[in-house]
Amino acid sequence: MPSNALWHPYAQMQTQPAPLEVVGGQGAYIELSGGERLLDATCSWWCMIHGYGHPRLVSAIQQQADTLCHVMLGGLSHAPAVELAETLVRITPPGLDHVFFSDSGSVGMEVAMKMAVQYQVLRGRPQKHRMLSLMRAYHGDTSGCMAVCDPEEGMHSLFAGLLPRHHFAPAPTAPFDASPQEAEADIAALRATLEACHHEVAALLMEPLLQAAGGLNMTSPHYVRAARELCDEFDVLLIFDEVATGFGRTGKLFAAEHAGVTPDIMVLSKGLTGGYLGHAATLATNQVYDTFLSDDDGHAFMHGPTFMGNPLACRVALESIAVFEEEDYLSKIAELNAVLREALLNERVAHHPAVSDVRVLGACAAIEFKDAASLAGAQTHARRQGVWLRPFGRWLYTMPAYITTQDELRQITAAMISWVDQC
Ligand code: PLP
Repeated sequence: MPSNALWHPYAQMQTQPAPLEVVGGQGAYIELSGGERLLDATCSWWCMIHGYGHPRLVSAIQQQADTLCHVMLGGLSHAPAVELAETLVRITPPGLDHVFFSDSGSVGMEVAMKMAVQYQVLRGRPQKHRMLSLMRAYHGDTSGCMAVCDPEEGMHSLFAGLLPRHHFAPAPTAPFDASPQEAEADIAALRATLEACHHEVAALLMEPLLQAAGGLNMTSPHYVRAARELCDEFDVLLIFDEVATGFGRTGKLFAAEHAGVTPDIMVLSKGLTGGYLGHAATLATNQVYDTFLSDDDGHAFMHGPTFMGNPLACRVALESIAVFEEEDYLSKIAELNAVLREALLNERVAHHPAVSDVRVLGACAAIEFKDAASLAGAQTHARRQGVWLRPFGRWLYTMPAYITTQDELRQITAAMISWVDQC
């Protein structure tokens, strides 16, 4: 089946082995042509939270397809989009009362950034047109998002000439369970950055609690609360990128809940539809939304993707949220967390000479290696044990589907640990 008609992401097409052909998926497993079944340790990179082939999600798409597959929202509306907007307002942190849909995490973040800049323009502060982001952040691959990703990380350095200049604060270093004193240095660094640049900053963007592609670099709830206070003090909006952390991954429905903080704008994607269709939601508070209200059409929010609020995606998102609530996923996530902690937070893994750190939160974990070269061969090694891992940077991750059983998760961690052992 190898075909060079299909250009793969972040792949050297000349030298990389042909990608494996997936012919189906069921539960936590993907099925390859030839009959091999692999336990997907990353649930398609954070998104397939119910696993594959979930009958309720499949049927929600089928039923909606019989009624209406798509209509553009300009001047029109439909029940799936209205119901999903109202549901998201109900389940997200209090105060996020308005929802703007788009079709991917990157575009959801673009929407958030444009919303923040236009908000500042409408308030008579056009000079506040830059973003403040954190080092080690990843917010997506579009031009606007690349400009707020860690500029030293290298993923987007080729495109530096294309990108606007924004501001960066140091990545937080105090862990999730840091004491207030331990979080002080990170907070002081954020304050110092804001003091220097707030006059031209529309918003501070952050992945609250954990930087997903940044190797699960964690922040403490103290830091997140301080970020809220500092944004208020310096008249800067706070944007949470919950594209990866949303829908239970950190052990709460949204990472913001660990800190009890409501951002001004919050972005959701990935788990929003349980991964079944591309979709994103950018939520905003009344304070933001009301600023756009006027007799003047020129004050309308200047964004409108063709596929925003797609009815199939909205319907499957509603079903995904219903399953999440009815099947008490937060309890399942707590059980998966216990398995991850027991398997990975121990001397054998954390003190191995090739390993620099192990991080676990909710239903995700990363083993950080001292050297990225240590990960060459890890994927093939895991495959021999029936597990699909996707090593990235210096990290070996797992973020399994929430329907993964405890035994299946032990099989995943055993594959990760046996790779550590042979390093
Ligand atoms: N923000 C975060 C935190 C992400 O992890 C990702 C994707 O991995 C994105 C944004 C971009 O989402 P998408 O790949 O859907 O554009």
